[in-house]
Amino acid sequence: MTTKADDRPVILWFRQDLRLADNPALNHAAETGRPVLPVYILDQGTRVRPMGAASLWWLDKSLRALDGSLRDRGSRLILRRGDSEAELQRLIAETGADAVFMNRLFEPEAWERDADIAHGLAADGVECKGYNGSLLCRPGEVLNGSDAPYKVFTPFLKALLAQAKAPPHTTGPTRIDTPTEAASDALSGWGLHPTNPDWSRGFDWTAGETGATEALSAFVSGGLKSYSRGRDRPGEAATSRLSPHLHFGEISPWRAVKSVQEAADARAVPKSEADKFVAEIGWREFSAHLLHAFPQIADRAFRPEYDAMPWRSDLEALEAWKLGRTGYPMVDAGMRELWATGFMHNRVRMVAASFLIKHLLIDWREGEAWFWDTLVDADRASNVQNWQWVAGSGADASPYFRIFNPVTQGQKFDGDGRYVRRWVPELGRLPDRWLHSPWTAPSEVLRDAGVQLGKTYPRPIVDHETARARALAALKTVSAERSSSGD
Ligand code: FAD
Repeated sequence: MTTKADDRPVILWFRQDLRLADNPALNHAAETGRPVLPVYILDQGTRVRPMGAASLWWLDKSLRALDGSLRDRGSRLILRRGDSEAELQRLIAETGADAVFMNRLFEPEAWERDADIAHGLAADGVECKGYNGSLLCRPGEVLNGSDAPYKVFTPFLKALLAQAKAPPHTTGPTRIDTPTEAASDALSGWGLHPTNPDWSRGFDWTAGETGATEALSAFVSGGLKSYSRGRDRPGEAATSRLSPHLHFGEISPWRAVKSVQEAADARAVPKSEADKFVAEIGWREFSAHLLHAFPQIADRAFRPEYDAMPWRSDLEALEAWKLGRTGYPMVDAGMRELWATGFMHNRVRMVAASFLIKHLLIDWREGEAWFWDTLVDADRASNVQNWQWVAGSGADASPYFRIFNPVTQGQKFDGDGRYVRRWVPELGRLPDRWLHSPWTAPSEVLRDAGVQLGKTYPRPIVDHETARARALAALKTVSAERSSSGD
């Protein structure tokens, strides 16, 4: 196809930035004054880890929403499936486009792939322009006094907040001119929504930009007031539930940060609560910056001695954990919430992850992979960083010897049992006192509550004290490894 130089379209390559507001790549593409071709390429190939099933569920709804918003502005979303570079080249050949605008992905595999694509396209005279639309600061920008990446969270957060400059809020161009001839796949043809069986019936989410801003407003006028206390109570709806929206870039992190800060400035909420929320956004940043600086941590321990941990292979126990049938109600509630909704409360993620790693002595990578497949907010950097935090092998991690007791965690953070009763209904009639440790209940209490251990609800698959001793003995072998390697 031949097109006059000024009419050549620019490709706007959407990835994890599925929004029109506060979208730097979109704004820059529109500023060229040339036609804009918005495209999403589903690339489940080998260069970047393929998305899990729950993420694909979300993607389906989010792309639908994005296409609707683009149509409201006179444009539409072009869908392609296959190898990213090959699909871009095809689109360029079909439309005469000579530039690709995108918001950067900072995960190591995507980063390398995008650099290769930019290199290849440059050789054909096609320019690639990348922006930061997903983080408060670009990885590599927040460095310590020795110009090295931070490995400890608190000084990282301080430096991040001192350095990060909020861009002005933008709503995106009111009209986006898109050439009509570019062909698109039909989203329904991609089969992203599960059928036969449809395991997503309990997924109660509104994906897309509108869903994201609604979730933010609901949080600012609701849970934010008592966030620091409420965020640890899985039975209360006290957190923002913004993580999948942030992962898919349906809202910019700046929008979330500015909204809570404005609420604090207007004295609608205490400043301490807004600060706590901003610190959690800071953990998201810390994870992204760490993975970018230390790409090996995607599948190896940040502290290499932990790769020598004597992990057990126990498929039966792993299966019980995945299905929420470990016999520990707090763990089982979390794993069932995950399966039913694509989400798990953060406090329970910590307890469930710790149980897999320390009580079952199963490699954290097994858990990370399960979360990757089942979480709607599955995010390479946050998932890896948090699993390693729990495993004790990460940067600024919880020490391995600190082993969560799933019973006392349940009693402390779900004292009234609201969370466990919701997800483990077969224990619903047990009094609070025994709810988190049903095996300690007298037989008449179990009978009155209709609980038959080993039949209606499993007995614990491991004894806490025995598992704890085994985990600490395993840690000793790691410590021995460390001293013999002279570290
Ligand atoms: P809020 O409490 O409202 O927090 C606001 C935002 O801050 C979140 O949306 C999230 O973007 C960020 N945030 C909060 N806590 C963390 C944290 N510990 N680490 C990084 N960012 C954080 N989060 C993911 O987004 N994707 C993952 O794949 C993921 N895997 C995890 C695995 C494990 C084992 C653990 C313990 C945590 C994981 N988290 C992950 C972090 C955290 O559990 C979720 O971000 C949080 O539960 C999302 O709920 P929310 O949006 O209501 O959080």
